[in-house]
Amino acid sequence: MIPEIDVRSLWAKKTYEGGLAFDYEPEEGLLDIPFVAFSSPVHAELRYAILEDGAVDVRGSITFTLRGACSRCLAEAEQTFTGEVDGLFERGKGDGMTYGYTNTVVLTELLRDALLFALPPRLLCGNCIDGEQN
Ligand SMILES: [Zn+2]
Repeated sequence: MIPEIDVRSLWAKKTYEGGLAFDYEPEEGLLDIPFVAFSSPVHAELRYAILEDGAVDVRGSITFTLRGACSRCLAEAEQTFTGEVDGLFERGKGDGMTYGYTNTVVLTELLRDALLFALPPRLLCGNCIDGEQN
Protein backbone atom coordinates (compact mmCIF):
# COMPACT_ATOMS: atom_id res chain seq x y z
CA MET A 1 0.00 0.00 0.00
CA ILE A 2 1.17 3.51 -0.79
CA PRO A 3 0.58 5.74 2.25
CA GLU A 4 -0.70 9.29 1.91
CA ILE A 5 0.68 12.34 3.68
CA ASP A 6 -2.10 14.03 5.63
CA VAL A 7 -0.73 17.56 5.39
CA ARG A 8 -3.69 19.21 7.07
CA SER A 9 -3.37 17.21 10.29
CA LEU A 10 0.45 17.42 10.28
CA TRP A 11 0.12 21.20 9.92
CA ALA A 12 -2.31 21.27 12.86
CA LYS A 13 0.21 19.31 14.95
CA LYS A 14 3.06 21.62 13.81
CA THR A 15 4.88 18.64 12.40
CA TYR A 16 6.58 19.88 9.27
CA GLU A 17 8.74 16.96 8.29
CA GLY A 18 8.95 13.23 8.56
CA GLY A 19 9.89 9.99 6.89
CA LEU A 20 8.07 7.10 5.27
CA ALA A 21 9.29 3.60 4.46
CA PHE A 22 6.94 1.17 2.74
CA ASP A 23 6.58 -1.51 0.08
CA TYR A 24 4.03 -1.51 -2.72
CA GLU A 25 3.12 -3.53 -5.77
CA PRO A 26 4.14 -1.75 -8.98
CA GLU A 27 1.90 -1.57 -12.03
CA GLU A 28 3.08 -4.41 -14.28
CA GLY A 29 2.19 -2.36 -17.34
CA LEU A 30 5.06 0.03 -16.66
CA LEU A 31 7.64 -2.62 -17.46
CA ASP A 32 8.34 -3.05 -21.16
CA ILE A 33 11.13 -5.67 -21.31
CA PRO A 34 10.12 -9.03 -22.89
CA PHE A 35 10.04 -12.01 -20.47
CA VAL A 36 10.94 -9.85 -17.46
CA ALA A 37 8.81 -9.07 -14.40
CA PHE A 38 9.13 -7.45 -10.98
CA SER A 39 10.21 -10.21 -8.58
CA SER A 40 9.32 -8.33 -5.39
CA PRO A 41 7.37 -5.28 -4.29
CA VAL A 42 9.00 -1.89 -4.76
CA HIS A 43 10.58 -0.56 -1.56
CA ALA A 44 10.36 3.19 -0.99
CA GLU A 45 12.24 5.31 1.58
CA LEU A 46 11.07 8.91 1.53
CA ARG A 47 11.51 12.12 3.51
CA TYR A 48 8.97 14.90 3.29
CA ALA A 49 9.08 18.54 4.35
CA ILE A 50 6.14 20.94 4.46
CA LEU A 51 7.32 24.36 3.34
CA GLU A 52 6.08 27.73 4.61
CA ASP A 53 3.71 28.21 1.68
CA GLY A 54 2.19 24.79 2.24
CA ALA A 55 4.02 23.09 -0.61
CA VAL A 56 5.38 19.65 0.25
CA ASP A 57 8.83 18.55 -0.85
CA VAL A 58 9.18 14.75 -1.14
CA ARG A 59 12.46 13.03 -1.89
CA GLY A 60 14.16 9.73 -1.36
CA SER A 61 14.67 6.49 -3.22
CA ILE A 62 12.91 3.42 -4.55
CA THR A 63 14.47 -0.02 -4.86
CA PHE A 64 13.12 -2.84 -6.99
CA THR A 65 14.25 -6.17 -8.39
CA LEU A 66 13.61 -7.50 -11.88
CA ARG A 67 13.79 -11.15 -12.84
CA GLY A 68 13.44 -12.92 -16.15
CA ALA A 69 15.30 -13.69 -19.33
CA CYS A 70 18.57 -11.87 -20.03
CA SER A 71 17.90 -9.48 -22.89
CA ARG A 72 21.04 -10.65 -24.66
CA CYS A 73 21.48 -14.41 -24.05
CA LEU A 74 18.09 -15.38 -22.53
CA ALA A 75 19.71 -16.94 -19.43
CA GLU A 76 17.90 -16.46 -16.12
CA ALA A 77 18.75 -13.00 -14.82
CA GLU A 78 17.94 -11.02 -11.69
CA GLN A 79 19.08 -7.52 -10.86
CA THR A 80 18.20 -4.88 -8.26
CA PHE A 81 17.85 -1.24 -9.26
CA THR A 82 17.56 1.98 -7.31
CA GLY A 83 15.81 5.12 -8.49
CA GLU A 84 15.64 8.65 -7.17
CA VAL A 85 12.39 10.21 -5.97
CA ASP A 86 12.19 14.00 -6.03
CA GLY A 87 8.92 15.86 -6.27
CA LEU A 88 7.21 19.04 -5.13
CA PHE A 89 3.49 19.07 -4.32
CA GLU A 90 1.78 22.45 -4.45
CA ARG A 91 -1.56 23.26 -2.89
CA GLY A 92 -4.21 23.08 -5.56
CA LYS A 93 -3.03 22.14 -9.04
CA GLY A 94 0.50 21.28 -10.05
CA ASP A 95 2.00 23.11 -13.01
CA GLY A 96 3.39 20.17 -14.95
CA MET A 97 6.79 20.39 -13.23
CA THR A 98 5.12 20.02 -9.83
CA TYR A 99 2.26 17.90 -8.50
CA GLY A 100 -0.89 19.22 -6.89
CA TYR A 101 -2.70 18.24 -3.70
CA THR A 102 -5.68 19.10 -1.54
CA ASN A 103 -5.29 18.35 2.21
CA THR A 104 -3.57 15.04 1.52
CA VAL A 105 -0.54 14.30 -0.65
CA VAL A 106 -1.14 11.23 -2.83
CA LEU A 107 2.21 9.74 -3.85
CA THR A 108 1.00 7.39 -6.59
CA GLU A 109 1.84 9.61 -9.56
CA LEU A 110 5.24 10.67 -8.20
CA LEU A 111 6.20 7.04 -7.56
CA ARG A 112 5.01 6.00 -11.01
CA ASP A 113 7.15 8.73 -12.60
CA ALA A 114 10.18 7.80 -10.48
CA LEU A 115 9.81 4.14 -11.39
CA LEU A 116 9.43 4.85 -15.11
CA PHE A 117 12.60 6.95 -14.96
CA ALA A 118 14.50 4.23 -13.07
CA LEU A 119 13.44 1.27 -15.22
CA PRO A 120 16.33 -0.03 -17.33
CA PRO A 121 15.83 -0.53 -21.08
CA ARG A 122 16.85 -4.19 -20.70
CA LEU A 123 17.87 -6.81 -18.14
CA LEU A 124 21.27 -8.52 -18.31
CA CYS A 125 22.56 -11.63 -16.54
CA GLY A 126 25.85 -11.58 -14.60
CA ASN A 127 27.84 -13.00 -17.54
CA CYS A 128 26.59 -10.40 -19.97
CA ILE A 129 27.19 -7.55 -17.50
CA ASP A 130 30.78 -8.78 -17.05
CA GLY A 131 31.14 -9.08 -20.81
CA GLU A 132 30.08 -5.49 -21.32
CA GLN A 133 32.61 -4.17 -18.83
CA ASN A 134 35.56 -5.94 -20.44
ZN1 LIG B 1 23.10 -12.89 -20.52
